[in-house]
Amino acid sequence: MADRIFLSPPHMGGDEAVLVQEAFASNYIAPVGPMLTAFEEGFAAYVGIPHCVALASCTAATHLVLRELGVGPGDEVIGSSLTFIGSISPVTFVGARVVLIDCDRSSWNMDLDLLAEELERAARRGKLPKAVIPTDLYGQCIDMDRILEICAPYEIPVISDAAEALGACYKGRHAGQGAYASVYSFNGNKIITTSGGGMLASEDAELVRRARYLSTQARQPAPHYEHTEIGYNYRLSNICAAIGRGQLRVLDERVTRKREIFEIYRERLGNLPGIQFMPESPSTRANRWLTVILVDPAAFGANREDLRLALEAENIESRPVWKPMHLQPVFHGARAIGGAVSQELFERGLCLPSGTALTTVDLDRICTIIRSQCPSVVA
Ligand SMILES: *Cc1c(COP(=O)(O)O)cnc(C)c1O
Repeated sequence: MADRIFLSPPHMGGDEAVLVQEAFASNYIAPVGPMLTAFEEGFAAYVGIPHCVALASCTAATHLVLRELGVGPGDEVIGSSLTFIGSISPVTFVGARVVLIDCDRSSWNMDLDLLAEELERAARRGKLPKAVIPTDLYGQCIDMDRILEICAPYEIPVISDAAEALGACYKGRHAGQGAYASVYSFNGNKIITTSGGGMLASEDAELVRRARYLSTQARQPAPHYEHTEIGYNYRLSNICAAIGRGQLRVLDERVTRKREIFEIYRERLGNLPGIQFMPESPSTRANRWLTVILVDPAAFGANREDLRLALEAENIESRPVWKPMHLQPVFHGARAIGGAVSQELFERGLCLPSGTALTTVDLDRICTIIRSQCPSVVA
């Protein structure tokens, strides 16, 4: 059988191994070192947010921001229902409760009308959420101007979950810009990877300084390590940062290729009955981290699970759209605002293989299998 085609595997640019070798030669194998500093500086310059700290994961980054905001038991934090759990699990790490908001059909991101209504109600109840964490789903930026406009009167900080959106733009600004804090992921399947890692970026120098301190066990500057509070072991290693530096160099190329792959799928599958593609909002340039289709089983003649299994039978990985958080057993009982739209996207949505190293032959194979599942094309 042909080699497995993965959903979005790592794709090295070539400089990574050289940079890792350089890190080895310097013997900065220990957590911090010059690669880490250079990675943070390069990243800050790329996203246009002045202060950055590289961490073990994006989930850790969000945890540190919530901790610094003083979020705790009895507090509420609003998140997107249609997201990956790492976006909101940190809310539970600090003992607070998540409130889950549905997405809208035009962007698949948090429905900002629902958010505005919820904040009005919260203000009337006299209990505002401590933060709002919108996800830039599948690499499409949230309408940042609008969400800031909604949250500003209540002075609620926005934490931009740009884990999937590095390289995407909103009105010419990089994903995450404008939020109080922004978090990014370098997990293995993201648009660039350090084999695992994350970044916290903010305009607030003090937030990033505190996050850096908390991420290395909150050590006071004393030779014996004095501790006045509890920290975490959340720092990215100098070796992983070397991979990140190499990956940053090819990030723009990766975005171009991801968008090309999306266009190839659209050309080949867009004319099939019952197939729709994830929309792109006019004010954004998505990075198309994953190409996502919606399957209308009545029109297409097969459902998204039929497609997924047909691909799997040919050793090709695809995946349903994220199962919404309000449907996850672990969040049973969490307050949910709406939810029908994300549920429908989950039931009908399929993420297609979107690795930037996919060849034309691979794409042909995938599209042929999908077309073969549509009875009206076959006939
Ligand atoms: C991948 C992802 C995360 C978590 O990133 P890690 O680096 O694995 O912690 C958070 N939010 C979203 C939307 C993600 O896709």
